[in-house]
Amino acid sequence: MPEFCIDFLPIHGSRSGDAIIIAFEPGTDGQEIIVVDGGFRSDGEALVEYIRDEYDSEFVDIVICSHPDEDHSAGLAPVLEELEVGMLWVHRPARHFRRVHPTQPLAEARARLLQASLNHVHTLEGLASERSVPVCEPFEGLSYAGGRLVVLGPSVRLYRQALERFSQGNRRTLDGRLERLAEAVGEELIETSENEDLRKAENTSSVVLRFQSDSGVSALLTADATQLALRRALNYSLRALGSRPLQSFDVFQVPHHGAFRNVGPWLFDSVDVASAIISASESDPQHPNDVVLDAFENSGCDVYVTGASGVRIIGYDDGTYQVERF
Ligand SMILES: [Zn+2]
Repeated sequence: MPEFCIDFLPIHGSRSGDAIIIAFEPGTDGQEIIVVDGGFRSDGEALVEYIRDEYDSEFVDIVICSHPDEDHSAGLAPVLEELEVGMLWVHRPARHFRRVHPTQPLAEARARLLQASLNHVHTLEGLASERSVPVCEPFEGLSYAGGRLVVLGPSVRLYRQALERFSQGNRRTLDGRLERLAEAVGEELIETSENEDLRKAENTSSVVLRFQSDSGVSALLTADATQLALRRALNYSLRALGSRPLQSFDVFQVPHHGAFRNVGPWLFDSVDVASAIISASESDPQHPNDVVLDAFENSGCDVYVTGASGVRIIGYDDGTYQVERF
């Protein structure tokens, strides 16, 4: 019997997303199933069927929404609608607004954009409230199952800094255009600035999660974390969890579907990775980026990209694991 499984489900369609299941036996009360993001709505429906078929379960212990973007959050609605859920972990922007915008009310246009960007999160909060599912905000330090699962980021402070810039986007600005140009000709990874990453506010608010099995196999899930979010999460791990400066992860999810600006050269001095997983749709022309792919391959780790098929990590109680496609 495996000690745990981590399934990176395939995402179908022209855009990439994340839909991940962590399943493990905690010892006393049977199987634990944790869903980390659900992809788009249709991916979430497939995820529900996968849990029924593969784990023979109608129950999910925790549903975790990493950040409000549709390719992560929309697929969690079917999970809450169709399965019994023990707990929802999601950031609740309304609880932080007054701290973020203490004096002036939001301009109407900005409020509308913000509302649209948080649409899926509001749906999840509504479903949880209808079904009396307890909601908890995943900020750094939150842990579950005796520390097997720990949230490394964001901190409340970083989340509020990001929330202030939610829905403003970066795409139509001159900076955005210059970035895309640099990406098109880029051959080497670059370190992004704090300001640039704060502008990618929703991604900077991504939950970074560490899973560690009893036998010591570790996995880092990064959603769409920017370099800023990832650096802060690794610092937290160093500071609060006593990790070593060069942190080792057996399984490392490359952030943001392998996008160019989410991985900087510094990362390879901070983490030692055995298996890198990239969650990307097979028909997404932009992800993963070739420079990112090469950087991980050249660092000596095995790289697995989801596509038409998913990637499954199976861990055993002797501390070994294998990677399969399904
Ligand atoms: Zn994404």
